[in-house]
Amino acid sequence: MDGDGFLHPEGTAWLQFLTDAGRSPNTVRSYGSRVAWYLSWCALTMDWRKATLNHLVLWRRTLTATAVSNPHGCSSFRSQSTVGVWMVAVRSFYEWADGHALLGGDLMSRMTELKYFAPGTASGGEHGSVRRVLVDELRTKRFGGGPPEWIDNGGARDRLAELSLPCRDRFLVDLLNTTGIRVGEALSLFVADVHFGGGSPQLRCRYVDPHLHVRVDNPVENGVRAKGKARMLFVHCDVVDSYVDYALERRGTLAAHGIADVSAHLFVNLYCEVRWLGRAMTYSSVRRLMERCSKRIDFDIGGPHTLRHTLATKLVRGLDCDPVPLDVVQEILGHAVLSSTRIYTHDEEAAMKAAMMAMAARPALQCGDR
Ligand SMILES: [Zn+2]
Repeated sequence: MDGDGFLHPEGTAWLQFLTDAGRSPNTVRSYGSRVAWYLSWCALTMDWRKATLNHLVLWRRTLTATAVSNPHGCSSFRSQSTVGVWMVAVRSFYEWADGHALLGGDLMSRMTELKYFAPGTASGGEHGSVRRVLVDELRTKRFGGGPPEWIDNGGARDRLAELSLPCRDRFLVDLLNTTGIRVGEALSLFVADVHFGGGSPQLRCRYVDPHLHVRVDNPVENGVRAKGKARMLFVHCDVVDSYVDYALERRGTLAAHGIADVSAHLFVNLYCEVRWLGRAMTYSSVRRLMERCSKRIDFDIGGPHTLRHTLATKLVRGLDCDPVPLDVVQEILGHAVLSSTRIYTHDEEAAMKAAMMAMAARPALQCGDR
C-alpha cells in the first residue's frame, strides 16, 4: 500500500498471478510480504522498475545487516538461507514483471546466469545439469548452489598456486591442481606408482618423461577406493620439485620420531599426533587441508574435487593455457565417456560469445583491391 492506502497495482497483480498459478496461500503470503518490504524500501529512493543489479545487491546487504526482533523480544540477524529465500521472492516478482514488459532495462538478464551443477550434488542429478540461477552477487554462499564447482576467480587460482604450505601439503595441492586426479586416486597412490625419474626396463615402463600411474587395484591401508580408470599421467617439473621436498620432509619427520617409513602410500600423515605419523592419509585430512587453504586464499574451495573441476575447466576453456582438445582432457581425467568431459564447458554461452568477439572482422581491404 502507498501512503494513501492504495494497493500497489503491479504487486497485487503478481500475487493474483501466483494464486492463479496454483501456489499455496502460504507461499503467496510470504512472497507478498517479502516483496512488499522490498517495494517499500525501493520507494524511498527510486522507481522499482528502474532497479539495477547494484540496487538488488544493496537490498540483499540491507537484509543481511538489519537486525530483526523475534517473538521473544530479542533481536538477531537473518540467516544467510533466510536472506536467500527473500531474494527468491524478489526474483519471482521481477520475472513476472519482465514477462509483462514492465521493466525499463535488462535487469532480468543481469539477475540470472546459466550455471553448471556437478553430478552428485543436490541440483546436479546423476549427470550434472545446467540451470538459470541468480548471479553470484545476489546469492548467498550457503544458499542454493553451495560452494562453487570450480575456482572461477583467477586471483584465487594464483594465490593457491603460490601459497606457502608444508611440503607434503604443497605437493598434494600441486598434484591435484595440475593432474586433476580424483582425491581417492591420489590417496590410493603408492610411492612405486610415481615414476618422476622416468620409466626403465626394471620398472617395466617405457615412458621417459616424469609421470605417475593411477591404479585402481592398490591394496590401500586407508579404506579409500580409487574409483576411476587406471591411466598414466605426465607431471610438470614443478610437481617433481615439490615431490622431492616432500620426500625429504617425510624421511626427516619420521626419522626424528624414530618411526620406520613402512607405508607403501605416497601420502602419509606428517603433521599429527605421534601415533598416527607415517600412516596413509585419509579423506578427512585432505578436507581439512582444503579448509585451511580456503581461508588463506580468501576463496571457498569447498572440497578437493573443486581442483579437478578447475583443471578441467581451464584445459577445456584455455584459461591460463592454450585450449586442450576434449578427447585429451577426457584421457587426463580418466573419463569413460566424452559426455562426462563435456560438462566442464562451464558458462558455454559466455565463452561462445567471447570466441565470436575475439575473431577479427573480415580482413581490411587493401587499397589496391578496390
Ligand atoms: Zn611409469
